[in-house]
Amino acid sequence: MIGDHPVPADACGMPLMKTGPKSDPAALLERARRAIAAHELPPAVISRVWGGRGSGHPCSLCGQPIGLNDVEIELEGVDAADSVRFHSGCHLLWSEACASKGEDH
Ligand SMILES: [Zn+2]
Repeated sequence: MIGDHPVPADACGMPLMKTGPKSDPAALLERARRAIAAHELPPAVISRVWGGRGSGHPCSLCGQPIGLNDVEIELEGVDAADSVRFHSGCHLLWSEACASKGEDH
């Protein structure tokens, strides 16, 4: 059971409305690599993606909801239980993780 909890605001007190990862990009990149290794995210960039306005669903990488004012990138034809969707910035990080996958082993 996931309870409601307050959404942390930025130091300025404004809700975060910008599209993109809200955590350290390097940490999210590492998270993307691990998710790919764990088959939680597809291992290759898929050309068929939908870009559009956010629908409030959580991002598959950073877990933050993709709000109506954010850009949502949704992957099509993914062999996964759930749809995979990213913030535009998270999609970029996932693409980077795909590109660098296996190069450091
Ligand atoms: Zn995200």
